[in-house]
Amino acid sequence: MSYDTHNIFAKILKGDIPFEALYQDEFAVAFPDINPRAKVHVLVIPTGPYVSSEDFHARARDAEIVGYYRALDKVLEILNLKGNSGYRLLSNSGKDAKQEVPHFHTHIFAGQDLGPMLCV
Ligand code: AMP
Repeated sequence: MSYDTHNIFAKILKGDIPFEALYQDEFAVAFPDINPRAKVHVLVIPTGPYVSSEDFHARARDAEIVGYYRALDKVLEILNLKGNSGYRLLSNSGKDAKQEVPHFHTHIFAGQDLGPMLCV
């Protein structure tokens, strides 16, 4: 799947759509999810054009991958989630996972009992 340069996160990165940056560096941007599913629901996206986790891990430079995960870790720190009652990291990839935005991202959920991982 090729990268859609008009997806909503691409627009955020270009500055075409307003967003509340919780963290921003060369490799990643973090902002609250517009439709929060938990008391804390934050998205962390890489600044490069990657469709999904597999695309990111296959095509990104090592520095981008390390930079992204270091940034994710900083966001956990900023949100004061480290060493406390816990959080969930989740990344949807593809149709079965119902990925809505075709730009790789990690969801951070926290601030409450998050329940079971999946309800089947
Ligand atoms: P996913 O299903 O993993 O692709 O999730 C995409 C997420 O992006 C959803 O939770 C949406 O609520 C969120 N989202 C879509 N547009 C925006 C936006 N403009 N600002 C913040 N979050 C957004």
